[in-house]
Amino acid sequence: MKFKDYEYIRPNYDEIKESFLSLLVQIKNAKGYDEQNKYIKELNSIRKTIETMSTLASIRNSINTADEFYDREQNYWDEYGPLYTELNTDFYKSIVNSKFKEEIKKEYSEQFYKICECALKSFSSEIIPDLQEENKLTSKYTKLMASAKINFDGKELNLSELYKYMLSSDREIRGKASKAYYNYFKEHESEFDEIYDNLVQVRHNMAQKLGFNNFIELAYIRLDRTDYNPEMISNLRKQVLEYIVPLCSELYDKQAKRLNLDKLMYIDENIEFLDGNATIKGDSKYIISNGIKMYNELSKETKEFFDFMIERDLMDLETKHNKSTGGYCTYIPNYKAPFIFSNFNGTSEDMDVLTHEAGHAFQIYMSRHIEMQEINFPTLDSCEIHSMSMEFITYPWMENFFKEDTDKYKFAHLCSAIKFLPYGVVVDEFQHIIYENPQMTKDERKEVWRSLEKKYLPHRDYMDNKILEKGCYFFKQGHIFEDPFYYIDYVLAQICAFQFLKKMEENKEEGWRDYLEICKIGGTKSFLQIIDTGNLISPFDYKCMESIITVLKNNVEAFENNIKS
Ligand SMILES: [Zn+2]
Repeated sequence: MKFKDYEYIRPNYDEIKESFLSLLVQIKNAKGYDEQNKYIKELNSIRKTIETMSTLASIRNSINTADEFYDREQNYWDEYGPLYTELNTDFYKSIVNSKFKEEIKKEYSEQFYKICECALKSFSSEIIPDLQEENKLTSKYTKLMASAKINFDGKELNLSELYKYMLSSDREIRGKASKAYYNYFKEHESEFDEIYDNLVQVRHNMAQKLGFNNFIELAYIRLDRTDYNPEMISNLRKQVLEYIVPLCSELYDKQAKRLNLDKLMYIDENIEFLDGNATIKGDSKYIISNGIKMYNELSKETKEFFDFMIERDLMDLETKHNKSTGGYCTYIPNYKAPFIFSNFNGTSEDMDVLTHEAGHAFQIYMSRHIEMQEINFPTLDSCEIHSMSMEFITYPWMENFFKEDTDKYKFAHLCSAIKFLPYGVVVDEFQHIIYENPQMTKDERKEVWRSLEKKYLPHRDYMDNKILEKGCYFFKQGHIFEDPFYYIDYVLAQICAFQFLKKMEENKEEGWRDYLEICKIGGTKSFLQIIDTGNLISPFDYKCMESIITVLKNNVEAFENNIKS
């Protein structure tokens, strides 16, 4: 069956609620585990249908935002989504309070049980007004970012349109564009300050109402972090400082030379080559046919997976009129089908869809036997391991896409992954300091940000840009406002992905076997257990960075030499 034939029926909330609640009573009153499990399974099939319908509505709405039917359906889900979430919370309660906990853990995994526990610990009806306030504030932030209208190049541009000019190979243009871009933050400094200050306060209050010391403790639970703590993360940041920051300084020095500059300034950081970035040597059809070839050759599992995606039309990749922006991978439970959405834009970013998003989709495809939706995908920290690792696992096929630009592509790809780590830990350490000291003033927060930049990004030179020198760069980092403490997950996953780069170089068969294993277990295990299953070194272990630093250096150097010759 093709995606277009997947049937959408809007569920009737009142009817669902009635059967949902009566099943919860049956779960509660069950005399034995077998009886309880029968009702859990019945309830699960209802939950899966709800999830399937809301996912279908959201995908079809994003493919064509002008389609009135799915626009209405999307509104229905926006309105009823929280009500269904509430029902799910009741389900988690019945799991946590079950007389047959041990049997549930055995059948559905300890991790599933812990996720239910986290959901309960991080919620109480007492904090509903705070959660609503938090949502309101993050929407206010999104709106403030989206409503920017900046006159530049004779046009009125939003921030992302203006950002394109900041990547211009003409230094004067990117200098002017950068100035205009950050001027928006200067003009709205007090609004950004106000939103963030309110967010910090409301989050701190929420944490205290739930009995935590501060928001850090609550945030870790909201993110289902069941087997590591802030101290371990701080250990990871130390490794980044010791191993990665010096490597990045070298990379930035070389970059300055490549660009014929005495010193690299903040406006130059995103420019790797004077003669432009690597480009894919063909159109979208060319990309897809090479993708088929790549996944055919990689392994029998990836062949089966990619055939499944193509046969059922589970990828909507090309940019079309009325399509939403961005890209994502999601899962439609009743059809056991992953779905990839993207907007090909003719740059090397299109490659990420075929490697990164396909990595997510491949993981969910390999673990589609898992019936409980909470553990289809792993938690966010582990989730990105599969996608980011696929970017490296597919390196040997990049030649088919980039031809003479292959090494240029790999060089830029690997350098940006390495350079991301120090920035990622700035974002993380910043939030730890802020939520540990919720009483800090707005200006003190900015000083903290700037001092962390100096610690982890010592190369960074803001020239005469006063607002950035003051420490306002973090205004543009949406995660700090919208998804507190989530950012380090990218760092954790990236470090694991580097280990897969190494594994595939050292022993392809073994590396691939380890990768398959972590795909198959889906979300049935916690982060550190997944690390274990994949025979990876924990990013919290001091040996970790030591084990990958040489591979990173060697690869960068090899790609660079190939570009020169
Ligand atoms: Zn991802």
